[in-house]
Amino acid sequence: MLRSVLIANRGEIACRIARTAKRLGMRTIAIYSEADAGALHTRLCDEAYLIGGPEPRASYLAIEHVIAAAKRAAAECIHPGYGFLAENAEFAEACAQANLVFVGPPPSAIRAMGLKDHAKRLMEQAGVPIVPGYHGERQDAKFLREKAYELGYPVLIKPAAGGGGRGLRRVDKHADFDAALEAAIRESQSAFGTGRVLIEKLIASPRHIEVQVFADSHGEVIHLGERDCSLQRRHQKVIEEAPAPDMTAALRKHIGGAAVAAAKAVGYRGAGTVEFVADDTSGLRADAFWFIEMNTRLQVEHPVTEEITGLDLVEWQFRIAAGEKLPLTQDQIGFEGHAIEARVYAEDPEHNFLPSTGRIVALELPKNIRVDSGVETGGEVPPFYDPMIAKIIAHAPTRDAALERLTTALDVMLIAGIRTNVAFLAMLCRADQFRQGKVDTGFIDRNLTALGVTPLVTDNGAAALGAMHLLKARAAKEALVVDEDASSEAYSPWSAGDAFQLGGVREVTLPIVVDDEDAEAVVSYGKAGVHLKVGGIAPASGARVFVSGGDAYVLLRGHQTRVRIRDFSASDVGPGGGDNVIKAPMHGRVLELLARVGDRVAFGQRLAVIEAMKMEHTLRAPFAGVVRELPVGTGTQVVEGAPIVVLEPVETSAE
Ligand code: ADP
Repeated sequence: MLRSVLIANRGEIACRIARTAKRLGMRTIAIYSEADAGALHTRLCDEAYLIGGPEPRASYLAIEHVIAAAKRAAAECIHPGYGFLAENAEFAEACAQANLVFVGPPPSAIRAMGLKDHAKRLMEQAGVPIVPGYHGERQDAKFLREKAYELGYPVLIKPAAGGGGRGLRRVDKHADFDAALEAAIRESQSAFGTGRVLIEKLIASPRHIEVQVFADSHGEVIHLGERDCSLQRRHQKVIEEAPAPDMTAALRKHIGGAAVAAAKAVGYRGAGTVEFVADDTSGLRADAFWFIEMNTRLQVEHPVTEEITGLDLVEWQFRIAAGEKLPLTQDQIGFEGHAIEARVYAEDPEHNFLPSTGRIVALELPKNIRVDSGVETGGEVPPFYDPMIAKIIAHAPTRDAALERLTTALDVMLIAGIRTNVAFLAMLCRADQFRQGKVDTGFIDRNLTALGVTPLVTDNGAAALGAMHLLKARAAKEALVVDEDASSEAYSPWSAGDAFQLGGVREVTLPIVVDDEDAEAVVSYGKAGVHLKVGGIAPASGARVFVSGGDAYVLLRGHQTRVRIRDFSASDVGPGGGDNVIKAPMHGRVLELLARVGDRVAFGQRLAVIEAMKMEHTLRAPFAGVVRELPVGTGTQVVEGAPIVVLEPVETSAE
């Protein structure tokens, strides 16, 4: 067996791999970027090496840095996790050259499956059913448009080098094809460095069914059953389960066989996932599923397979990398019960799922359930990496029971500071159609409103409660009067400084900021004590409040309200001031500036593209105007609220 491993990753998956490695008695070596100093994964491992700056390119993606750290630590093998270098054939080669065992497939297999068009051609030859479409070499727009027409709309344009749903474009009619192609190429170019695409028939009522395969270096290939990952948002998985609802033993044998054939066709070794899309219009059928791609690594959702098989897939990866035979034969693989995993993302469902970064002020994880997490109280969620921060995995004898366990766990889970999708996940678990196991990949996007994803109006009761806590905290700090009973709503009016007047009731207005919007709290001081209201509403009850760094985080029914007392000494307005400044909505990198200083732009025109946590966000002109300033250049890393474009309004009225 291998004795030491360098884990070339971060977050939950680095922690997950370390756990198994330690159980197997291996020495564990972490690497980290400057943004991850002190992060959980660095402390879970026996050793940790700083390998570069916060940007992935400077650290987790820097092959030389990773290899250098492995040599310095005298690691025997490297486990890449998922993402970053996991599917990078050059990295696998660099490991071999440095005499390090790469815990993954041979570089040739990574390459064979690396490009979707190439992989589809190979699978076609191997007799694996593939989604109808064009996956050839020709790339000129006119030709591709003709191919789409021949195929019949709707079609899907996919980056050949794609992953994570990026650059995928659905096209419903011929007239829209060119614009969609252009957008797909642009996004693919920026995300993957190549604009090559393929065209696929869009499968009606699509379900995402994938098969976990394992191959050893002795020519044996088996599968560990399927996972259903149909609950997706914008082609990104949100909840996964195993087995797939309605799966039959006969169909599993069929699809499992296709997956094994796919792995054999590329000389596979280690853990891999063969992804299929199934047409569920008339239920799962052997003649209605098609290969879309193979992921040549461990998947995010591997725990659901572990739960129903009782196996540790990371252990299997290590054993195979060490040259051992597959621990079990196909016939020895059994499945027990049902497992469902929910991905916790640092994002804000109520604001178009914008990534949310910053400090985790409070974290309470559910108990008696499997949680694979990479975060902890006081930790930072940096803007440079994937927003997936934890996974909750429920296992029970039946699907209903597993869903029940997962829902309960999500209900009690609490994260304050950053915003997360936890309440949204709980909503999903309660959705009737999902409960019945009848969802396709478009379910979430079609039902956002029903799933509670509407911008919530300010919760005045929560805001009032937050403001109250801040006033108390301030009073305690100023120590004008010690508040004997911190939980009592009435505290000494003296603590509010000049506001108190003997006799009668006095009201003062306290400027506050609620979720970045200016608001006012009205504080009344009188014999009956101090009362505070926001928008005429008294502090809510039944909420949890966490105060950190001048902010109060109020968690009420899964919704977080952030409250701050407005401090006029620190200007709330950035350089240039006022509404003319278009600011970065989150921490990220300026990918593109689409206007120049002096340009006259129309209302709604695209001005800049910002990338954060692998997502692109477009900033548009909020009004017609002239670009006066572009304070930052392309490629700059910006903090939330940083001015990106200064726009001067122009009169649009007739002259
Ligand atoms: P990526 O590698 O970017 O994740 P995939 O090819 O895996 O792209 O597709 C992402 C998701 O889109 C899949 O999970 C599947 O549900 C859906 N999908 C892919 N191809 C099709 C298709 N031809 N028709 C319908 N849905 C599809």
